[in-house]
Amino acid sequence: MHLTVLGCYAATPRTLTNPTSQVLEINNHIILIDCGEGTQVELRRHKIKFSRINHIFISHLHGDHFFGLPGFISTMRLLGREKELHVYGPKGIKEAITLLLKLGDSWTNYPLLFHELSSKESELVFEDEKISVTTIPLDHRIYTNGYLFREKVGKRKLNIEAAEKYGIDKAYYQNIKNGKDVTLDNGEIIGNNELTFDPPKPKSYAFCSDTIYDESLAAKIKDVDVLYHESTFLESEVELATKTKHATALQAAKVAKDANVKTLVLGHYSTRYKSIELFKEEASKIFPNVLLANDGKTFDF
Ligand SMILES: [Zn+2]
Ligand SMILES: [Zn+2]
Repeated sequence: MHLTVLGCYAATPRTLTNPTSQVLEINNHIILIDCGEGTQVELRRHKIKFSRINHIFISHLHGDHFFGLPGFISTMRLLGREKELHVYGPKGIKEAITLLLKLGDSWTNYPLLFHELSSKESELVFEDEKISVTTIPLDHRIYTNGYLFREKVGKRKLNIEAAEKYGIDKAYYQNIKNGKDVTLDNGEIIGNNELTFDPPKPKSYAFCSDTIYDESLAAKIKDVDVLYHESTFLESEVELATKTKHATALQAAKVAKDANVKTLVLGHYSTRYKSIELFKEEASKIFPNVLLANDGKTFDF
């Protein structure tokens, strides 16, 4: 699992900081999560091919999370995209985007498919043989979802050394990979477990964009490997955080601790603070494994 943070600062684009957008590479999928202004430029800077993105997940319709989307959709048309593009986001996103395309008489010549969300309960919104994506309802000033991305268990890996030891013909290798046992010429049955290695443990990533501190969130993301949780403010501004339905670094750490996640990634920083290290210091008081997102930073999990 590989994460590229394209932008992770609150509110407005600035000279050196971008609003929220990130690219998650998970089990051969390249997924765009939120699409603030500047997303296209950052994708180019990181040499991520636009054409490899087939799924975009938007948390909510505040500008710092989706004002880059019309531009991105429009550029895909100019680049001659033919493949489907799937956009997941709150109800209203289709109307917002299609109005712009209509006024500019610039309809896409590729299938643009919207999956509008309005449920306040967690729901499965995408699934194939490699991953699943479920929503994480959040409590913000407008309808907002985080997303939980989970890898599926891969196939067992062939243990060639073991197969050779039993003199098994290569023609059976595919059957072994598919989970079959092998019967040798002398009638002895070799169990599949002896001929294969366990597949790697599937990983999971929870993206929780703008939200007030919510104690009940931990239960929805229990034991995930990586939690990205907003931390717009520090505890010194906790009242402002509550008023604007945002969270502090300490509150993000509480969620991480209660959910028993392995790693917490902080982001969506207010630019009022001198250094983002302050967020790590605060969160680390109660949760040990804290990483700081920053624009252009990449993580391997
Ligand atoms: Zn925001
Ligand atoms: Zn917001």
